Amino acid sequence: MFSSFAHLLRLGASGCQGSSRSIATIVSGIKTSKLVRTRLKEEVETMSREFTGFRPGLTVVQVGNRDDSNLYISTKLQAAAQIGIVAKHVRLSPTATQDEVLQCVMSVNDDTSVHGLIVQLPLDHVTHIDTQLVTNAVSPLKDVDGLTCINAGKLSRGDLSDCFIPCTPNGCMELIRQTGVSVAGKHAVVIGRSKIVGAPMHDLLLWSDATVTSCHSKTTDLPEQVSRADILVVGAGRAEMVRGEWLKDGAVVIDCGINYIPDGTKASGQRVVGDVHFASANQRAGFITPVPGGVGPMTVAMLMENTVWSAQRFLQHLK
Ligand code: NDP
Repeated sequence: MFSSFAHLLRLGASGCQGSSRSIATIVSGIKTSKLVRTRLKEEVETMSREFTGFRPGLTVVQVGNRDDSNLYISTKLQAAAQIGIVAKHVRLSPTATQDEVLQCVMSVNDDTSVHGLIVQLPLDHVTHIDTQLVTNAVSPLKDVDGLTCINAGKLSRGDLSDCFIPCTPNGCMELIRQTGVSVAGKHAVVIGRSKIVGAPMHDLLLWSDATVTSCHSKTTDLPEQVSRADILVVGAGRAEMVRGEWLKDGAVVIDCGINYIPDGTKASGQRVVGDVHFASANQRAGFITPVPGGVGPMTVAMLMENTVWSAQRFLQHLK
C-alpha cells in the first residue's frame, strides 16, 4: 500500500479540533501536516543510519521568476530542509527554449542523488514551451507531483501501490481520514476536473470505494449535486462559491480553493478564502477544512512524503 495510506489509520482522528452540535468540526491541515513531517523526519534519520549518510534528494526546476512560484518553492525547500531532504532549486531564464528546459529535466532524471523532481507550474516563459511535454519528460520514477501520464494512468486504473499520487488530492485523502468517516460506500462529489486536483481526487475516492460524481464548469445543477454529497471536495478556484445551504447535513467538506478577495481591514488590502463559503458551510457540515490552514499545508507535506517514498524505493533496489 502507498505509504500515506498506510499511515492514516495510525494517525487516527488527532488532526480534528473542537466540536459543537451545530458547528462543524474543523479539520486542521496544520496539525495533520506536522504529524506527517515529524514521521518523515524520523524515516529519513533511519535511512541515513542504515545507509550511512544517505539523504533523499528533491530538485525543483523553475522557468522564469513568478512571485507566487518563488513563494511556493521557498516553502517546499524549507519543509524539505526541516525533514532532512537535500533540496535543490534550479531556475532557468524566462527566455529558455523548450529544448533547454527538456535538457535540464533529463539531466536531473539522470542524477542518481535526486529521487524527486518537480517542474514548478505555471512556467513563466517568453518562447513557446509545451507544458505537457515538459511535465511528461520527468522520469515516472521521480515524478513526485504525480503529473506524468504514466502515474496518472496508474492512478486512474486503481494501481495505487505503484504510483505517485498528486500531492493536493493525497493531502485531501489524509484529511478525510482524519475525520474518522469511512469513504467506502459514501457518495462523494468533486468539483473541478484539473489534472492536479479534481481528476486525481475523483480517482482516489473511486478506488477508496466511494461512488463519485465529478462536477465542472458545465455542470448545470451544482447545488443539487452538492446536496447529495456525504463527502465534498472542492477545487474550482471560485471564491466562496459553495454555500452552506447547498450541503447535506453532516457532510465532510474539503476545500482546496485559494482565492484572494479585497478586504479593507487588512494591511495588504486582501485576504485569502476558499471555494466554500466557510461561515454558512460551518453551520451545516459535519467536518470542514479551513482556508488557510487546511489543504494547503497538506500539499507540501505530501510532496515530502512522495520524495521520501521515492528514496526508500531507490534504496530497496540497491539491496
Ligand atoms: P483549474 O483552473 O485548473 O481547474 C478548475 C476546475 O474547476 C476546472 O475543472 C473547472 O471546470 C472547474 N470549475 C471552474 N468554475 C466552476 C464552476 N463555476 N462550477 C463548477 N466547476 C467549476 O484549477 P486547479 O484545479 O489548479 O485549482 C483549483 C483550486 O485549488 C484553485 O483555487 C487553486 O488555487 C487551488 N489549489 C490549491 C492547492 C493547495 O495546495 N491548497 C494546490 C493546487 C490548487 P472546467 O474543467 O469545465 O473548466
